[in-house]
Amino acid sequence: MPDWVEKCVPRGRPPWRSFLPLVLVMAACSADPAIGPTPGRPVFDGEVAMELVQRQVAFGPRVPGTDGHARQLAWMLARLDSLAPVMVADTFDHVAVSGDSLRLVNVLARYNPDASRRIVLLAHWDTRPRSDEALDVALHDIPVPGANDGASGTAVLLTLSSILSENPPPLGVDLLWVDGEDYGPGVEDMLLGARHYAATVADDGRPVYGLLLDMVGDADPSFPVEGISAQYANVVVQKVWRAAERLGYRAFFPTAVGRTLTDDHVPLIEAGIPTANLVDFTYGPGNSYWHTPQDVPENVSATTLGMVGEVVTELIYSGG
Ligand SMILES: [Zn+2]
Repeated sequence: MPDWVEKCVPRGRPPWRSFLPLVLVMAACSADPAIGPTPGRPVFDGEVAMELVQRQVAFGPRVPGTDGHARQLAWMLARLDSLAPVMVADTFDHVAVSGDSLRLVNVLARYNPDASRRIVLLAHWDTRPRSDEALDVALHDIPVPGANDGASGTAVLLTLSSILSENPPPLGVDLLWVDGEDYGPGVEDMLLGARHYAATVADDGRPVYGLLLDMVGDADPSFPVEGISAQYANVVVQKVWRAAERLGYRAFFPTAVGRTLTDDHVPLIEAGIPTANLVDFTYGPGNSYWHTPQDVPENVSATTLGMVGEVVTELIYSGG
């Protein structure tokens, strides 16, 4: 076992906010990229995912406690009811620093539910209540539309739910839509659904690893390896970035380590589930669309959603 595999096991609390000047070494320990994509892999259609982005944004901001949040939840549950062999809507409460009481819901769809070897793919479905990165402070109280930050990862997983229902996967796959990722403003009131999942995931059916999709729809995509993922989930990084390479997407999935981001993968890593974060943190010029009113469907690309969906589909149907 190469040394880097050892390093993916958490040892104490990771230095979340420090920059990790690492360069990922792509050790030869899994499928050879020269082999090419897995034969018979189902097709992932980015246009389908794009329609699901538009549908979500049309509900309005999906901020906990709002009508848009309730409407999107009802829509997701109705859709998954016919697509997932097992579906769980896990409701929990959280009192924010502000005193707001939030009712939150994680949605879990399980495929090949009896398989002992499982993976979890997750994205947040809620959206941020404020546009606090907008240059114009007058815009700060406007909720973000969340086309990329919320709807993109959710749409890719919803599209996968249709694929998985028609094409039984070779391992157990849990799709998890977490709530309360982006409530904030402080970290105490963020990552709420991922923390709840990590604290309650049963030993029976526990995933061997996880993959987080966040902000996966930018029209100018770049997915360098996120820093915490490189340090604590390198074995997952190897699998995902190799899948991208097999599909010819190396230019969009550079193996150098980029930013270190506190995100929904952190609670899972702390719970002993190595989880990589597939995230493009260059949304618009200088990341200028992030947490602003410019996070709209016009700034999300069906092509990018399709590429990410293909990579995840390749990951699943090559055996995880
Ligand atoms: Zn956000």
